[in-house]
Amino acid sequence: MMDFVYSRRYCGPLQGVILDWAGTTMDYGCYAPAVVFVEVFKRAGVEISMEEARVPMGAHKRVHIQKITQIEAVRRRWEAAHGRPPTEEDVDAMFAQFVPLQLDCLARYADLIPGTLEALEAFRARGLKIGSTTGYTSEMMDILQREAAARGYVPDATVCATEVPAGRPEPWMCLENAKRLRIFPMEAIVKIGDTLPDIEEGLNAGMWTVGLAMTGNEMGLNKAEIPATDPALIAQRRDRACARMAQTGAHYVVDSISDCPAIIDAINARLARGERP
Ligand SMILES: [Mg+2]
Repeated sequence: MMDFVYSRRYCGPLQGVILDWAGTTMDYGCYAPAVVFVEVFKRAGVEISMEEARVPMGAHKRVHIQKITQIEAVRRRWEAAHGRPPTEEDVDAMFAQFVPLQLDCLARYADLIPGTLEALEAFRARGLKIGSTTGYTSEMMDILQREAAARGYVPDATVCATEVPAGRPEPWMCLENAKRLRIFPMEAIVKIGDTLPDIEEGLNAGMWTVGLAMTGNEMGLNKAEIPATDPALIAQRRDRACARMAQTGAHYVVDSISDCPAIIDAINARLARGERP
């Protein structure tokens, strides 16, 4: 009978970073999907607010529409308008409307979030490969990848929810990135994103996770709106974002992708000490 067991532990550096798209590297404030969800519900005869449109952000877009219909207040408005609750067929019909509307306006929201290219350079200088995941379909990503490339951003891998058995919060998009980038173990990867499902998919994949509080869906404001908004409201939303992401299990919550190279160094120090995500 042995009194000790010996466990194997990765103590090398991070080898890869997996980035979300809207609200993380482009589309400051994560507007493109939110405005289209509002429009699609309007066409179905039900007004929803931008806040309601943002609640399920990060999910596959059809799942997102379904989750909006499950918000209690939206459900009540739907029943008032249609005399019955929303059905699967309603969700399908709205998703069918969503796709062309989203394709139409994506390019208008494709500017990179300031600091993205510098952060990417800093990741590469640390030897990291760049992967990415998204709630957009591959048809939508064709447009966004083209727009991103024109602005100097070309990740080494991109995986959409439509390419795996399920999108966030399940881990498959992250794990498929690991495979395409040929990185192991999973604790050598950090997932960065602006929504709670972003954090969950990274944690479910066994990776380190970083949440972004200022540039994405949690703040819900673009670069021009932030300085024009009451600082008390900004501070309140920022605190809420930090609390929600920390409670979801994010290892770190920072303002934007610009803050992430320093986080890479901090995680590398923890890995060298034998820590795990
Ligand atoms: Mg996002």
